[in-house]
Amino acid sequence: MLTLLALALAIAPSDTLRRGPAPYWQQRVAYDISARLEEPLGVLRGTQHILYVNNSPDTLRSFALHLHLNAFRPGSAWSDADSVEGRRRFNDLKDPDYASNHVSNVRIMGQPVTAIYPLAPDSTIVRFQLPAPLAPGDSMVIETEWDARLSTVARRQGRRGRHYDFAQWYPKVVVYDQYGWEEHPLVPAGEFYGEFGSFRVQLDVPEDQVLGATGVPVCGDPGWSGANQDKSRAVEYGVDAYPGIAQQVSGPGPGQNGACAFAGMRATELSPGYKRVLWYAESVHHFALTMAPDYRYEGGRFQKTLVHVLYQPGDEKSWGGVAVKRTEIALNWLGQLFGPFAWPQITNVHRIDGGGTEFPMMIMDGSASQGLIVHELGHNYTMGILANNEWREGWLDEGFTSFQSSWFSEVVEKAKDTYAGNEANVLQLDLGGWSEPVSLISDKYSDFVVYNQMIYSKGELFLQQLRYVVGDSVMHEILQTYYARWQMKHVDGARFQAVAEEVSRMDLGPLFGQWLHGTPMFDYAVGKVQRRQQGDGWVTRVQVLRKGDGMMPVDVAVIAETDTAIVRTDGLAPKAWVEVTTRSEPKEVLIDPTVHAHDWNMLNNRYRFTLFGKRSPPVTNYFDTWFSEPESRDHVERGFMPAAWYNTAGGLVIGARARENYLGMFEENQLLLSYNLGGPGDDASVKEFDYFLRLKNPVWLRAPSQSQRLEVFRTEGRWGGLLGWDWSRRDHLTFGPTRSAGVSLRLVDIDNTAFLDPQQYIDVGIVELMTDWGIRNRVGKWQLGGKLSLGGGLVFNRDGLAAVQPDLDEFYFRGEIEGTARRELAKKLTFAGRLYGGVAVGAHTAAKQRQIYLSSSDPFAQLYNPFLRSEGSLLVLDDVPYQAPGGAGVRAADFRISGPALIAANVELERTMLVRQKSKLFSRVSLAAFGDAAQGIGGPDQLATGEALGFVADAGLGVRANHRIGKTSFMTRFDFPFYLSEPAYSRNDFAQDDAFAFRWLFSVQAAF
Ligand SMILES: [Zn+2]
Repeated sequence: MLTLLALALAIAPSDTLRRGPAPYWQQRVAYDISARLEEPLGVLRGTQHILYVNNSPDTLRSFALHLHLNAFRPGSAWSDADSVEGRRRFNDLKDPDYASNHVSNVRIMGQPVTAIYPLAPDSTIVRFQLPAPLAPGDSMVIETEWDARLSTVARRQGRRGRHYDFAQWYPKVVVYDQYGWEEHPLVPAGEFYGEFGSFRVQLDVPEDQVLGATGVPVCGDPGWSGANQDKSRAVEYGVDAYPGIAQQVSGPGPGQNGACAFAGMRATELSPGYKRVLWYAESVHHFALTMAPDYRYEGGRFQKTLVHVLYQPGDEKSWGGVAVKRTEIALNWLGQLFGPFAWPQITNVHRIDGGGTEFPMMIMDGSASQGLIVHELGHNYTMGILANNEWREGWLDEGFTSFQSSWFSEVVEKAKDTYAGNEANVLQLDLGGWSEPVSLISDKYSDFVVYNQMIYSKGELFLQQLRYVVGDSVMHEILQTYYARWQMKHVDGARFQAVAEEVSRMDLGPLFGQWLHGTPMFDYAVGKVQRRQQGDGWVTRVQVLRKGDGMMPVDVAVIAETDTAIVRTDGLAPKAWVEVTTRSEPKEVLIDPTVHAHDWNMLNNRYRFTLFGKRSPPVTNYFDTWFSEPESRDHVERGFMPAAWYNTAGGLVIGARARENYLGMFEENQLLLSYNLGGPGDDASVKEFDYFLRLKNPVWLRAPSQSQRLEVFRTEGRWGGLLGWDWSRRDHLTFGPTRSAGVSLRLVDIDNTAFLDPQQYIDVGIVELMTDWGIRNRVGKWQLGGKLSLGGGLVFNRDGLAAVQPDLDEFYFRGEIEGTARRELAKKLTFAGRLYGGVAVGAHTAAKQRQIYLSSSDPFAQLYNPFLRSEGSLLVLDDVPYQAPGGAGVRAADFRISGPALIAANVELERTMLVRQKSKLFSRVSLAAFGDAAQGIGGPDQLATGEALGFVADAGLGVRANHRIGKTSFMTRFDFPFYLSEPAYSRNDFAQDDAFAFRWLFSVQAAF
């Protein structure tokens, strides 16, 4: 016997291979539910009888039910997943606000069974051992009593007053499929998976409730007639959709109250003040239910499908008269796309929760927008009728319905093509390294946001790419075949792919494989190009280079003098030659002209036939206004701007700046040319030509979260350069700490001291290597930040590494550490604090330009700002007390005061006085009280006091306003430090005698 069994097992796999995929099967389920709503408790109490037929080839030994409502309570897997990602919803709810679903007295095959909660403490799955094995083809009956309560915080389900949105509310049979029992907890990422079945539902509710449900009312009054807003149209119940059901029902029929009963269902007594409504549905994998006494009803019909709309008081304008029409429009669109709606009715409900959720024959919507209705009704096709496992392959419902909704707005609403926006959004996620495979099991995504982006947006983009590859009419045929073949069945990616390949007669393996199971990057480039005249026309040979790991069919366009021709290549080979024939002389070759290959780098896609022939990135020039920088998907944006500023030695400086970017993240290059016309004083007047060049984030160095910089400059008496690398990443797309690190090598040498304030610079060159680390995070109500930079440099002059002043060393160490904390103390009242320490020393001291400054950032940080960097610049004039925040931040002090080491603390208390959200200027105005304190450690005597820098503190009041011009947000800050412990240090030269005096300063940046 054992030998025979072993032999059978050994044969089985090869036998399976020979037969191909196993034939499709699905279990059969029939529910009889009898339930009564207890008000005001809001508890629905019921009994349930399930007939279960095992159509699988397996003998079943256990059985499982979903108790989905148990997700919306403290301690559930859902609540814990929420908490991990910083959402507090159900973990804080108390009895009786949280949801629950309990089963009791469970009997299977007539015998009592014990409930097992395999995912405890989560109780959204309950499992039972069968009293006897259930063989293939056999059936059994499961009987339970249960109670169900919705949560007062709405999520898909919910209750508010006497309005109840019952979704996933009864003990629901877990799907048994080729993978076994799909026992999966309900968590935020991933939705539902249901076994198709029939439902006989007997509901006892207070007489004034107006109801909507999956299925059709076959006896009793759902309240539609009384709530009907369109008196010209009689309510249609649609009972004729199920001709066989009449024999199973006794009572007055739909729309009228009376002694309604299903044949064979246990009769219960109807309480006074209650009515009984019977519902029936076939071939659905869920039964949704909603009720509210003040629902408004409107009805309609599209072909054979009845439309019921239930909306709330106050919706007369937003839902009344329009929701029915929009539901019919959606039915029309989806019918054309897939085929006729498979169920007799659709109910569209204005639910308590925002957004929308789909259920068979019912959509619960937060608004009556056409887009939302098309999306949710689309789910009745992809999810409802074509029933995928939503936690295993969410893209099959969300990606699909997002895809068809976009196609709807493109075709029916004649709206601007939504493809471009979605493609660019997905590209940003791909480039940022956030993308994960579209077919990932829902709760395996790194967080809820990535899950959403992948299954909705990238899932949609995949289907757009399929449409691009096969063409519109074949795509249409694929959808129709998929729907005809798989309706009322369970679908998966492989089943959809098989249909798509059969209809298109194409091998779509690479497309499905890469887009669903990987995260490749696509990049095609023009290689060699040749052209020759042939007969009346021209033949252009284009070498298409595949530079990315991703492979997509890609178009090659040849733009000729009077005509354009496009040839599509499969994009598989690393190098492929394509021949394109045009009637006139070719001028330009463009790869992927419609941006459909998801090619991240469009800068290497163009070739122009010029005298020497050249590959050149497409560029658009614009006049720059400083505040906004346009970003484009397929070309470089390059902005030009004139500039002028002033300093003492150079006098008026005139210049022009060009800056460019690609995708807002690459080729962020900048060139600034300027000329100093010469200052007023003869001795110090300098006429010189300056430049600043920055190359940042070239496409060839693409790496997620990283940034690279090369700068060279000659600016106002200084020359040098910088080579820098930075890395910055948040742990998750929308939450968690942001960490950063960087390293830079900088050279700043002096070739003309006429521009320099000797209190900021001594005449030496400096090479500095600096590393830095940072972290920012929200912890409870605190917004915390920390920064550390450590490095050192060497000091030289024309004679080499020689000291230019007796106590100056060749080498110095420089380090800064800063911690900031900010939180709201009360509404409109914010506390902010900062601790700082900085040191810049050799054996004695560091050069003045590298010391730690009492009030401001150091001179190197100001090199980029023409209004700050040189003596006599606009913002360093005596009468213009500007503060460039940084250093020890003692804002009342002169920006030239520095020492070798300083520790400091700064605090601000800010009270919002005015908020004007829609305004660009003065969108928020606030008052602040502040105090700064610093302690200098060692160092030379200060000019102002003749003593080394010691303890300095200030305090005062300030006013701030927030503004936004174009894409630039900034603050104007006026501070009045009426107290300064060391008045000789005052930035205002009129207030250098008394500690208490009127002082002021301003800035366009926050103090810290
Ligand atoms: Zn959806």
